Parts: sequence; structure tokens; C-alpha cells
Amino acid sequence: MSKKENAFSLKFDTEWTYAEAPESTSHIAIEKKYDLFIDGKFVKPKSGKYFETINPATEKPLAKVAEANQKDVDAAVNAARKAFPKWSGLPAKERGKYIFRIARLIQEKAREFAVIETMDGGKPIKEARDIDIPLAAAHFFYYAGWADKLQYAFPNAKAEPLGVAGQIIPWNFPLLMAAWKIAPALACGNTVVLKPAETTPLTALKLAELIQESGLPNGVVNIVTGDGKTGALIVEHPEIDKIAFTGSTEVGKIIQRAIAGTNKKATLELGGKAANIIFEDAPIDQAVEGVINGIFFNQGHVCCAGSRLFVQESIQKEVERKLVDRLETLIVGDPLDKNTDVGAINSKQQLETINGYLKIGESEGLRSHQAKNKLPDSGYFCRPTLFFDVAQSSRLAKEEIFGPVLAIQTFRTVDEVIEKANNTPYGLSAGVWTDKGSKAFNLSSQLKAGVIWANTFNKFDPTSPFGGYKESGFGREGGLHGLAAYLKIKA
Ligand code: NAP
Ligand code: MG
Repeated sequence: MSKKENAFSLKFDTEWTYAEAPESTSHIAIEKKYDLFIDGKFVKPKSGKYFETINPATEKPLAKVAEANQKDVDAAVNAARKAFPKWSGLPAKERGKYIFRIARLIQEKAREFAVIETMDGGKPIKEARDIDIPLAAAHFFYYAGWADKLQYAFPNAKAEPLGVAGQIIPWNFPLLMAAWKIAPALACGNTVVLKPAETTPLTALKLAELIQESGLPNGVVNIVTGDGKTGALIVEHPEIDKIAFTGSTEVGKIIQRAIAGTNKKATLELGGKAANIIFEDAPIDQAVEGVINGIFFNQGHVCCAGSRLFVQESIQKEVERKLVDRLETLIVGDPLDKNTDVGAINSKQQLETINGYLKIGESEGLRSHQAKNKLPDSGYFCRPTLFFDVAQSSRLAKEEIFGPVLAIQTFRTVDEVIEKANNTPYGLSAGVWTDKGSKAFNLSSQLKAGVIWANTFNKFDPTSPFGGYKESGFGREGGLHGLAAYLKIKA
């Protein structure tokens, strides 16, 4: 077997845990306690306080993580400020080399990252292994390539970095979101203070170890852990030039208010309630597969999840029957089992939120179907659920549930489905399933969302800009457009 094949045929069995991985594979090291990564070193939090991160599939603690207060955030921002002239002054090609090195180190440690991501956040190992971690490396590779080509990205102008970027990320794609944020910021010559989510800090801290190993100059990337209060300290810090936030629309609005009247630039990637639309001429089996992936991938903890399904009336019965059949084949359970399709809900709080929505469906007397899986005895699990004939006015159709719950509606005409699909405060993504190219193009121009997929769903690529319309936020991450968010363009 070639080295390359070997790298992608790693085994993830349930019989062992990180503490006792088989000898033939590398050790999965989770420390008992993690400090803050500031100025190239791991330092204790000034308050001496630590909080626990747990494995949501077992409810058992994995590690203690430092809680950063004002003084710690000051130290991180100062380190980033101090590193900025040096980093931005390096020849661009040198910056690129460091970013390439980080990309390669992520690939080398891919297995370790995947297992830690799954244990800390609850996502199925096959997703962490095949999607999150390879895509995180791909983002670093992609932006490493841009570092010395900014003059081609922005011709006839000089592209200058903004300064210190404060980056705040959510718990659904922890390492991938860190990559989305850090890679373009560094490529453009900015320095960074990043805060991972409280429930999933471990892969960002692992990334900090690897950044140390890469020899990246001290202070270029600083990683501070904590809860929303730590996030707010970053947002409000006067020495921060740009805020890059991914998270809820609610916190996005708080951030906008906090930076109003300052010189801070911002990009906000917020919530979503995507329409996934199946026309009667669509390849139905393929569409059903796409709908299942669209809503149950990562337990539905996906901002661009296809959480509203619109089915053309003439195929309603067939699609419903096929969705129910497919639902019953999904394996819900131990995220470390490589056969698991739907893992653990990220936190107790999120499970309660989702259960609240299941109750709403029940109280509205909606027709529904829930997978009959036996759930593990401990851990936060939720059965994949379908609600049929959901009204436009139902909270199930209007609000982001961020869980494995699909609200299904029907339509007759193209105009009707466009109106229904756009009748939402969100506008992050949408999907269209049809055999007719003209229909796909018509819909993609009329749907008010930042990303439209045709005959596929949840496809991500570092070259492709991602971001929202309306309350789903502003600014784009990924692709050429993701560079613009970290630059001042001077003509
Ligand atoms: P969240 O509560 O908004 O948290 C996101 C991040 O912000 C976390 O690191 C959080 O810290 C921090 N935070 C909380 N309050 C803050 C404040 N006042 N100031 C600064 N930072 C603060 O969202 P979430 O529950 O983690 O994530 C789910 C949401 O993210 C969903 O709405 C989803 O749609 C959205 N999302 C959007 C995208 C996208 O690209 N558009 C991608 C993924 C997720 P703690 O973890 O400690 O609370
Ligand atoms: Mg955790």
C-alpha cells in the first residue's frame, strides 16, 4: 500500500479510547489541563480559573481549559499587536511558507485531530476524518498559495493588512472554523487572537501546539479560551482592528452594537434556515439522499443545513415514503464508531433547545416520523425527526433549530416555492433538485441566499465564497472574497 493510501485508510474502532489506541497508530494525547496560547507560549490564566470540557457522548470530562479574563485578553492582543509589524513586513513568500507548514502539520496529525474533534464535540468520526480535518488543511493550503499573489487578487491596487484580527468561532466545526478564520488572516499579513467555543476548545489548542511546532513567529496567532464573556472582551478591545465572528444571529447583533462607532471592521457569519427544494422532475433517490445529508450531517448543527424541505405536491407521497425508509437506516450513537451516521448533540443545553422544538411540533399536532433507533444510555442524543405539512407560520419553519429536525412543506408552482423559500429572515444557503438546468439557474438567481447548491448539498471548498444574505450575516469567507475581508485596498 502506498504511503498516501495508508494515510487515508486509518482505523477508527470503538474498542479503544484515546488513552489506549492500538500500538500501530499514534497516541491520541489529550492533556489534563490546557493553558492559554499567548505570544508563542502556553501560559496560565491570570485568574487561575479553569473550566471543564466534556465528551457529549459520555458526559464525562475530557480536560480542564483555562478561562481568559481581561488581563489575559490584553496580553494576547498586545502580543498580536507587537507581532504585527514583523509578520506583515515579512516577504509574502515567507508568510506563505509558514502557512503551508501549518497545513502539512494538520495533515500529519489528521488522525489525532479527528479523534479529538469527535470526542470533544460529538460529531461522527467519519465526518471529522473525511470532511472537517481534510478541509481544515485544505483551507491552509489554499490561502498559503495566495500569500504572495495578493497583487493578482487585487490588481491595480495595493492590498494592506488590517492589523490585529479578533476571531470568535462556534462549536459545530471547531477546527474547520479556526482554519477558515486563521488562514486568510495570516495570508494577508494580519495577526490573530482567536477564541474557540466553550464546549469544543480542544482542537484549537491542539492547533496551537502545532503552530508552536511550525516555528510561526511568536504572537502571530494567539488562542484564548473562555466563554461568551471572553468573546465580548475581544470584541470590545480597543486594539483590535477587525472582528471575524461565526455564531448565532443574536450574538452577531450584540457584536454589531458593540463595535458601532469604532474603526473596527467586521464579518459576521450567522444562522440559517435553508430551503431544500425538490421538483417533480428531479432524480428522486439522489434528492432524498441529499435531503438526508442536508439535515442530518453533523446532527443538523450546521448553519447552512437544509432544515426546510419543499416538495412538489405531485411527488409528496413518494418523497415522504423514501425519507422515512432512509431515516430508519441511519445509525445514531457512539460518535467514535466509524459506522455512525448521527453522533451526539453537542451539549445538554443544545439538546434541551432541540427537545423544546420537538414539543412544539407535538403541540401543533403535526404528522411526524422519528427514527426508532435505540439510543445510548448516557450522553446527549436525539433521534432524527421529520415533521410533515408544516405551516409557514410554525416556529419549526421559521426558527433555526440547529438539530436533526426537518420541517417539510409542499408547493405546486415555481413562483410559489420561490416566495415560500425566501420568506425567512435568514439567507445563508439553499438547495434545488431538478433535472432541468434552466430551472436550477432560474432558482439560483431568485433565491435570496449566499450559497445555492443544485443537485447536491453541503458541498464545501476553500475556493468558494461562503456567507449570508439578510440576518445570516455579511462578508464572505473562503475563496478570493475571503481575502478581501482581511485587507485595506489602496489605489
Ligand atoms: P453563539 O452562542 O453565538 O457562540 C458563538 C461564539 O461566540 C462562541 O465562541 C461563544 O462563546 C461566543 N460568544 C457568546 N456570546 C458572546 C458575546 N456576547 N460576545 C462575543 N462572543 C460571544 O453561537 P453557537 O451556539 O456557538 O453556534 C450556533 C450558531 O452559530 C447557530 O446560529 C449557527 O447558525 C451559527 N453558525 C453560523 C455559521 C456560518 O458560517 N454562518 C457557521 C457555524 C455556526 P461560548 O461558546 O463560550 O458561548
Ligand atoms: Mg466538549
